Amino acid sequence: MEEYKKNDLVKVTIEDIGSEGEGIGKVDGFTLFVKDAVPGDVVTAKIMKSKKTYAYARLEKVETPSPFRVEPPCKFHRQCGGCQLQSLSYAKQLEFKQNKIRNNMVRIGGFAPEFVDGIMEPIVGMDEPLRYRNKAQYPVGTDKEGNLITGFYAGRTHSIIANTDCLLGVSENREILENLLEYMRENKVTAYDETTGQGLVRHVLIRKGFTNGELMVCVVINQKCPKENKQYLPAQERLLARLTELPGMKSISVNFNAENTNVILGREVRTIWGEPTIFDMIHVRDMKTEGYPFTGDSLTFKISPLSFYQVNPVQTEKLYSLALEYAGLTGKETVWDLYCGIGTISLFLARKAKQVYGVEIVEQAIMDARENAIRNGISNAKFFVGKAEEVLPEYYEKQQGDEMLHPDVIVVDPPRKGCDDACLETMLKMHPSRIVYVSCDSATLARDLKILCGGGYELKKIRGVDQFGMTVHVEVACYLSRT
Ligand code: SAH
Repeated sequence: MEEYKKNDLVKVTIEDIGSEGEGIGKVDGFTLFVKDAVPGDVVTAKIMKSKKTYAYARLEKVETPSPFRVEPPCKFHRQCGGCQLQSLSYAKQLEFKQNKIRNNMVRIGGFAPEFVDGIMEPIVGMDEPLRYRNKAQYPVGTDKEGNLITGFYAGRTHSIIANTDCLLGVSENREILENLLEYMRENKVTAYDETTGQGLVRHVLIRKGFTNGELMVCVVINQKCPKENKQYLPAQERLLARLTELPGMKSISVNFNAENTNVILGREVRTIWGEPTIFDMIHVRDMKTEGYPFTGDSLTFKISPLSFYQVNPVQTEKLYSLALEYAGLTGKETVWDLYCGIGTISLFLARKAKQVYGVEIVEQAIMDARENAIRNGISNAKFFVGKAEEVLPEYYEKQQGDEMLHPDVIVVDPPRKGCDDACLETMLKMHPSRIVYVSCDSATLARDLKILCGGGYELKKIRGVDQFGMTVHVEVACYLSRT
């Protein structure tokens, strides 16, 4: 077999999708990874980087389009790279995600394919896979001609491509961004330049509460937070005049970040108009009924520019309702919710449990969780700051003989890297009747499930929830019972 050289043109039929959304095709046993090509396409691809048995190639031309190929709704999708699946029909996107979870369970988790097929429920898709994000963070900068722009970083670079209307975000973003740019132009306000460290405006953060349409704008500037209250932006009132009249506007603030860093937000925020926070509600849904109707129960959450909050509120309701269903609570249980963030899942659980304990590493999130409990009239949820893998073993020691601390159910919702071994070990020692695992990475989930199933648990049900349409990411909820 000939090895391919850079810039060779190859005709290939795309048969599969890789984990990063790239099309995969084979020519004479040689595997090609072709970004932007979708299964069913016959394409001409240009080799970029070749190895012995596989190569990375760029899509040159679609010779015969796949029946699953659709016109990508965003004209920037190739440059941006944020939406890897935009050229694929939404039904196929869901199929890809369902298979991704299934394959990880088989390959990494070591479960038999028939077993997985028997317990896996159909993925929960979105009704509308665009405009679902309640949060947008646009960098502010200049284009090659020196014009002020907001947009997105091209691929993995730091050059900004102008765009005021990412289609995953809400349509209000555009007017807010255009008004900010106009204000900057009129008043000669500069944009931050990360190569020189000069310039004022770095980013704009926009959040919307989907339940009641409240909008929050936070302008991140390259300055330290001054001690006394003063004008933080030049001719600040002119920016306010432009923004405060927009329907739904509730909160305008400035965030201070004078560090040379990729981190977007600094620690301090000053409200310059309106309220310091907005509110949103998360409703409990009935996941067993088609259309997932509301059950009538809901929780209210306070959102500040710095607080963590799920970015797709509609799908979050479905994911957490599923976690709640999987917890199988009757009102008598003690539940531990590890990696609890601002207590979203914990508070859902508290309504149906005797007692909930939440554990989270970020102190501010725990402060928010406690406040959210009070706001929602929940008194049976207690929160601890610390690492799950440290707090849980500590309470395991204390728990001996203390019925109150012994978990009937443990819920975990860790970041991508999954649960720490010490945490999994203690979970096994605490032997709850059920474990509910919510995950944003089915590969680390499969790895952890293998450990839990090796330690006396059986996987009972697993289901994907698409929180991030157009991208390759997918959330998963599952539960295990003690055998
Ligand atoms: N369940 C939460 C958030 C889940 S995201 C919600 O519904 O909003 C994962 C959370 O785990 C983050 O809040 C992160 O700060 C926290 N975290 C990361 N590592 C942790 C650890 N070792 N112990 C406890 N929490 C951790």
